[in-house]
Amino acid sequence: MSQHALPEWLISLWQDITARRDRLPHALLLTGAPGSGKRLFAEQLCAALLCQHPDSDGFACGQCNACHWLASGNHPDVLRVVPAADQEEAGEEGEGAETPTKKEKSRSSQIVIDQVRAIQSVLEVGAGGRRVVIVEPAEAMNVAAANAMLKMLEEPGQGTVFLLVCHAPRRLLPTILSRCQRIDFGRPSAAQVKNWVAGCGIKDAEALLGFCSGLPLLVERMHQQGLDEARRQFATELVRLPNSDPLKLAAQWETRLKAKDADERGLSLALLISWIQRWLADGARVANGIAPRFYLDYQTELAALSNGRSEAWTACFREFHTYRGVAQHPLNLRLFLEEMLLVLHRRTTVVRR
Ligand SMILES: [Zn+2]
Repeated sequence: MSQHALPEWLISLWQDITARRDRLPHALLLTGAPGSGKRLFAEQLCAALLCQHPDSDGFACGQCNACHWLASGNHPDVLRVVPAADQEEAGEEGEGAETPTKKEKSRSSQIVIDQVRAIQSVLEVGAGGRRVVIVEPAEAMNVAAANAMLKMLEEPGQGTVFLLVCHAPRRLLPTILSRCQRIDFGRPSAAQVKNWVAGCGIKDAEALLGFCSGLPLLVERMHQQGLDEARRQFATELVRLPNSDPLKLAAQWETRLKAKDADERGLSLALLISWIQRWLADGARVANGIAPRFYLDYQTELAALSNGRSEAWTACFREFHTYRGVAQHPLNLRLFLEEMLLVLHRRTTVVRR
């Protein structure tokens, strides 16, 4: 592995941490917004800590027995604590299961005490040697689990490093916070983002940044899941909506949402609705002479469509809040999409004064 395993803006942090490789505190709390790179960093650090021959930059070599073992997913010295719902998701990758969302729903989105106890019993068996416990997201621990975790943090075994990955540190027990050394993952600078755009090889990377709160790693994820292409298609269809049949479009969207790989890619009705809301909010902005925030690459089209009717677009934006509320369980997906698109068609394109 090389420095390319981490983006440029995380390298100095990496150097800080790996320079202390043998004197690391036993618990690190990695915090920051989703997409800030903390999970990637935790995985790299875990690999580096277990590697037999890390390279001169402190990264895992990718070649030694330990690295191969880790890559196989069976390394006994890596203990992961994640909510059951996330486990399910990971386990079903690539299997094209038909109803993962249903199963997911029945599984806990919390980290429960039994999971923490299981780790505890593994740690109690034989001490010595390096072990890494990854807890993600740490704020998913319920109170009982967090208290059990606290106990482990108070009496860490020799060589064990806890990596707590956390989006919302305020939701952690103060006692847990005080047991960890906190590392904050901030945003890359404008210059770093510019460098990244130049070298990322992703079409429309700059426009996508607007869509991803300015976080390059989220753009990469969108690209890997093919959602950048989906967004382009979606926007093109909305541009053509005034001259197309909303019912036909609803049928097409239904097909895409029911595709086998939709769940795996994160393509859901809730996502579509949030994309429509962004579209409407941007239309209202542009109608008011303000630059779009999300669809930076569709400013001209949005201006032509909204044509100064900022009130109608704002009203429609509000209307879509109600759709968002029922998006998790529509009774009939096709009917739901048809209704949504008819409303969108009527409110944003037909009304003329
Ligand atoms: Zn190695």
